[in-house]
Amino acid sequence: MAGGFFIGPKDSKHREDKRGDKMRQAGLSGSSEPSGDSAGECLVMKFGGTSVQDAGAIRRLCELVKRALPQHPVVVVSALAKVTDQLMNSGWAAAQGHLDEAREILQLLQQRHQAVAAGLLGGDECTRVCLEFDREFDALAAVSSRLAWEKAFPPHAQDQVLGVGESLSSKLVHAALQSVGVNAALVDARRCIVTDAAHTRATPLWADTHEQLQAVVAPLLHSGLTPVMGGFVGATRDGMPTTLGRGGSDFSASIVGAGLRARRIEIWTDVDGVMTTDPAVCPDARRVARMSFDEAADLAYFGAKVLHPATLIPAMRGNVPVWVLNSRNPDCCGTEIVAHCESDGQVKAITAKRGVAIVDIEPIRWFAPELLREVFDVFERHQHSLELLSASRGSLALLVSSVTALPSIAEELKGLANVRWENHKALVCLVGEQIRRRPELASRAFRAIDDIDVRMICQGASERNISFLVDESRVIEAVQRLHRSFFSAPLSETAIEVSSSQAMCQAEGMWQ
Ligand code: ADP
Ligand code: ASP
Ligand code: MG
Repeated sequence: MAGGFFIGPKDSKHREDKRGDKMRQAGLSGSSEPSGDSAGECLVMKFGGTSVQDAGAIRRLCELVKRALPQHPVVVVSALAKVTDQLMNSGWAAAQGHLDEAREILQLLQQRHQAVAAGLLGGDECTRVCLEFDREFDALAAVSSRLAWEKAFPPHAQDQVLGVGESLSSKLVHAALQSVGVNAALVDARRCIVTDAAHTRATPLWADTHEQLQAVVAPLLHSGLTPVMGGFVGATRDGMPTTLGRGGSDFSASIVGAGLRARRIEIWTDVDGVMTTDPAVCPDARRVARMSFDEAADLAYFGAKVLHPATLIPAMRGNVPVWVLNSRNPDCCGTEIVAHCESDGQVKAITAKRGVAIVDIEPIRWFAPELLREVFDVFERHQHSLELLSASRGSLALLVSSVTALPSIAEELKGLANVRWENHKALVCLVGEQIRRRPELASRAFRAIDDIDVRMICQGASERNISFLVDESRVIEAVQRLHRSFFSAPLSETAIEVSSSQAMCQAEGMWQ
């Protein structure tokens, strides 16, 4: 197999340059650095879907925010668990002509939000909030009728519909915080997060966003209020609603944290922190006490759902530490993600990205550098990002996470190269600073899965990760076996790190 080189996260050797690249990728470059005009030492607390899923979860959120009041929190919330999926289903049902089904989904959503409000708020306040919900759902009903008429649910309409989930949850959380005596101020995130017009996967325009955060959120903090805003959503300069991609509330929190120069960003979720692998796949996964921005960015990029892939970009830029914490187990000290983290060359975590396809590009005559340029150009024209690339004398192999544009790409390359692809692959990735310098780790990994067909191994491009492709049907087994090999007893150094840090954390308390 030819040596691969990387399209994904970059090598720490070139950290500064490559961070510049990441910033540009995320549209965060630009003349306006977050500077001295910030809100100062605030704390950003982001609560994911399960951390606001019902009245009990929102009560726990209120307790956490109250305890953090001396640190001037800014609260960023996701939609209630599963609401975004249901809004998406209602939109598609309407677009496919099933208007009754669309309305029924919306009705159930409205009832759920009303029930949560009733569980949290007293009579008048509950009535006021439910009236606001009525307005949102009336608007959604009008959009459904339009989608049914147009028989389509285009990206700009998806942004309009999906963003309502965060608007509803932020109103609920705002009212709940006020009801427990927190002086909360509701902020429309669409006034603060200014993005380009790439609907469903918008990129923030940093300078505008920074300016808006300073103009809208910083004065609230200065007046001693606790701003509450929805994650995930933004708007273009001319006010068109956009979203930052699924799971994007983590990214919102980081954008807000960097823009306000927060002292830290807390991502409150349903697990104890970043774990050695997805605990849904390996229930014995362990919490990682500390990791670097780069390690966490690689994990997120290679599929660990606990963080949106772009989350670390603004945090790195502003050098704001990120903590991943469990809202159901707040006394656990979670995972601290910082710029630099001492490294012992151990694997910190294992992740996998499913739904990957491998594309083989075979030149018709010979392999020339022009072909490489043409391939990059054609993928860019189709806005098709590459996960990994491997080149050899005779051919080119690429990994992509969507096959929709491949037929047109193959058509455009006709005459230059034959393009074939295979679906249903998964990219498994081991992450840890400097693991490439420990060749025995790769041999240990391949021993653990020696009967699984492995393709496209990549360990040259980054100091920090080793990745390889397997059939999607075997990915769970592969991750479980790798996890057993790297993290089962006797205690690995990672486990020691976890336990000593846990003891320290318990001794010092959570909110140092
Ligand atoms: P939230 O709704 O709070 O944003 P998500 O569902 O997006 O939460 O992310 C949390 C989930 O991420 C966990 O429940 C877990 O199953 C999954 N996950 C995947 N990989 C990891 C990992 N390495 N560490 C922790 N959680 C992980
Ligand atoms: N609610 C959005 C989603 O489900 C964003 C988020 O939860 O981070 O994708
Ligand atoms: Mg999430």
